[in-house]
Amino acid sequence: MNDIVLQIENVQQHYEQGDNVLSVLKGANFSLKKGETVALVAPSGTGKSTLLHLAGLLETPGDGEVYIGGRATSTLDDDARTAMRRSELGFVYQFHHLLPEFTALENIMMPQMIAGLSYKEASERAAQLLDYMRIGARASHRPAELSGGEQQRVAIARSVANAPLILLADEPTGNLDPETAGYVFEALEALVRQSGLSALIATHNHDIAALMDRRVTLRDGQVAEF
Ligand code: ADP
Repeated sequence: MNDIVLQIENVQQHYEQGDNVLSVLKGANFSLKKGETVALVAPSGTGKSTLLHLAGLLETPGDGEVYIGGRATSTLDDDARTAMRRSELGFVYQFHHLLPEFTALENIMMPQMIAGLSYKEASERAAQLLDYMRIGARASHRPAELSGGEQQRVAIARSVANAPLILLADEPTGNLDPETAGYVFEALEALVRQSGLSALIATHNHDIAALMDRRVTLRDGQVAEF
């Protein structure tokens, strides 16, 4: 049980849409082990983002429980959720959301300095992460001077800057051409493997999904084996 870093237990999530109530998750169960990579492959509108938002403590479930590192999260107040999100969770989105006026290195330093690391510690780790992502030579470039694949690799490096327990990614290569998507994902996977991180990654790309330890889908509001 201790090696489970994320557990989603009997989670229900409903949204009101006008006069209707849309049940997106209907008692969903899922667990992610330490060091495990899982692809979430399901058609649009089935609740992938909802599941990632719940796992990322960006939404609270209508019912059920989300455990991060063995801790129940439904009873945490906003400050405790934010603290847990910052220390245990890393996020990568389809669009990089890098800060345009800062360099690649500075973008990766930022979350570390917010967490209290010194300039020296943060810049050393940022440089190391850029090397892992094989873009060390681009450290002093601003996002606009980087290609789409390079921007996304910086965003991935930034997401793990504070050594989270879990990486959550929503279509991280969805905006890239297939070849670029392939090498960005390879770099992501190398980083995950060398750091012992666990990852839940929503993707439509079956080649990428095939590289992960396990594949799940959403079917009738439940998480099911793909
Ligand atoms: P996916 O990521 O698989 O495309 P989502 O989790 O984004 O699916 O959405 C699942 C369904 O829930 C969609 O029909 C969407 O319109 C609806 N939905 C998601 N978030 C909300 C919300 N905040 N309010 C109302 N409906 C929502």
